[in-house]
Amino acid sequence: MNRVATMNIGVLALVAGTVLAAAPAERDGQTALAVSSTVAEEPSKVAWNALHRTADLSLGESQAVELSDGRKTMLKLVGLEEIRDGLCSAVRAARVKVEVNGQPITLTSATYHLPVTIAGVQIDCPITRGYTQNARTNRWGLDKDARLRLWPADSRWMAPETFVYPVRQRWFASDTQMANDPVFVDGGEVPGNRNIYYHWGLDFGGCEGMVDVVSASDGLVVSAGQDVLPEHKDIPGVSATYDEVNVLDARGWYYCYAHLKSIDAAVRPGQTVKRGQQIGVLGKEGGSGGWSHLHFHITARQPSGKWGIEEGYAFLWEAYVRQHSPTLIAVARPHHFATVGQKVMLDGTRSWSATGKIKSHAWTFCDGSAAVGAKVERTYERPGTYSEILKVADTDERVDYDFAVVQVVDKAAPQQLPPTIHATYAPTFGLQPGDAVTFKVRTFRTTEGEEKWDFGDGTPAVAVKSDGNVKPRAPDGYAETVHRYAKPGHYLVRVERVGHTGAKAIAHLHVRVGREP
Ligand SMILES: [Zn+2]
Repeated sequence: MNRVATMNIGVLALVAGTVLAAAPAERDGQTALAVSSTVAEEPSKVAWNALHRTADLSLGESQAVELSDGRKTMLKLVGLEEIRDGLCSAVRAARVKVEVNGQPITLTSATYHLPVTIAGVQIDCPITRGYTQNARTNRWGLDKDARLRLWPADSRWMAPETFVYPVRQRWFASDTQMANDPVFVDGGEVPGNRNIYYHWGLDFGGCEGMVDVVSASDGLVVSAGQDVLPEHKDIPGVSATYDEVNVLDARGWYYCYAHLKSIDAAVRPGQTVKRGQQIGVLGKEGGSGGWSHLHFHITARQPSGKWGIEEGYAFLWEAYVRQHSPTLIAVARPHHFATVGQKVMLDGTRSWSATGKIKSHAWTFCDGSAAVGAKVERTYERPGTYSEILKVADTDERVDYDFAVVQVVDKAAPQQLPPTIHATYAPTFGLQPGDAVTFKVRTFRTTEGEEKWDFGDGTPAVAVKSDGNVKPRAPDGYAETVHRYAKPGHYLVRVERVGHTGAKAIAHLHVRVGREP
C-alpha cells in the first residue's frame, strides 16, 4: 500500500506542477485547492489521483497497463464494429472486441454503458475512431482506433470525496444527451446531415430557472462568464462565454458548466469552489439550441498527448447512487432515430437494481399497446416523436420508469420533419400532496398547434402553447403550468403536440409524490 501511495503522490505533484503552477491563487507552495479546503472530508492528495488508467489502441495492438493499484494488465484491441444509420451515417453503436489478460470481451462505447468487470479489472470504452470521422467537432483527442479505461476490479470509478452529482434534481428527471449520442432534443437529428454532433459532454434537461447547478469537484474557477484567467483561455473545452463556468481540479481536469441562466456571484475567476457549492442556475443560454439543460463536460490530457473529453457518465452514475441511494433505476436510453417501417430495438437491459435483481421489464407504447421483456422490437407507421414507457420492477415490488424517445421520419418526405418536444418539471425531490409542481414544455420545428398535458392523476387535460423555438433564447419560450397532486404515488405525465405536418411529438415525465417506497 505504501508503495502505491508514494507513487500516487508523485503523480499528483507532477499534475500540480505542470498544470496548476500558473494559477494566481497559489499560496505557500501548495495549490489553492488544498489550502482552501475546510470541510471535514477533505480529499487527501492520494484521492486526487484518478482511479482509472487510459489506453488508446490501434486494431491489433497490445499494451501493458499498470492499474492504479500497481498491478499490470495486458490489453489487446482485437476488433471494432461501428453500426451507422442509413439516414446520415451517424454511428449508433460502436463495439470493440478486447482481450483483457487473454480473456475476450465485447464492449459498447459510451451511450449509457457503464464499466464492466472481467479478468480482475473494470473496463469501459469511451470513444472509437468512427465517431471522430464525421463529427461536427473532434473533441476526444483520439488518434488511434479506440480508447479504453481500466480500474482495479474492486475500485470505485472516482474517489468519492472528489466528485458530486452536479445538478440538484432526480436522475433522468428529463431528457438527457449523454456521451456519444447524437443531439436530438431540439431537432438536431436531420436526415442527410453529414456533420454529426455526437454529444461529447453530458446534458441534463431540466426546468429552466428552477434547478441549481453545483460544482462537481473542488477546484479553481478559471472562467466565469466572459472573464477568464489568461493562462487557461486556450485550453480546448474552456470557452469564456457569458453562460459558462469552467473549473480546474487538482487532477488537472477542467469541468465545464454551460447554458446557465445565472452564475453565482461568488464564482469568480481565481476563486476556488468546493464540490457541491452552487455555481449557477440551469438555463438555455448560449448555444443550447433552445432546450433548457446543463451542458457538463470534463476535459483532461489523453494518452495521445492531446486534451480530450474525459467521459463522465460513469462518474455521474456513481455519485448519484452514493448521494441519493436509489434502489432501482430504469434505463431506456439512448434515443432512437428511424424511418417509417424500420425496425427499432428498445432496450431496457441497462436498468439497475441495488439488490442485483430486476424481476420484470414492461413497455407501454404511445399507441396504447404493450410488451414484456428487456428488449423489444417495434416499427412505426407514421413520422413523429414517440416516448415509449419502460417500467421495471424488483423482487420487493418497487418500480421505476424511464422513457425511450423514438424519432421517426418519412424517407419519402425527408424535409417534412416531425416536431420534437422537451418536457420538464420542478421540484423533482420531496414532493408532497398539495405541493405546487411547475411543468414547462417547449416544442421544436413547428409553431402549429398547442401542447396538451395529461398529469396522470385523472384530472382534466390542460392546454398550453409554447413558441416553437422561433427564438431559442426567448425568456418565455417554454409554456408553463402548475399542477398539484392530491395523493402520494408515482405519476406518469404525458404531454403532446401536433405540428404543421400532422405528425405528433409526445413526451413523458415520471413524478413521485409522497414518501419513497
Ligand atoms: Zn451539451
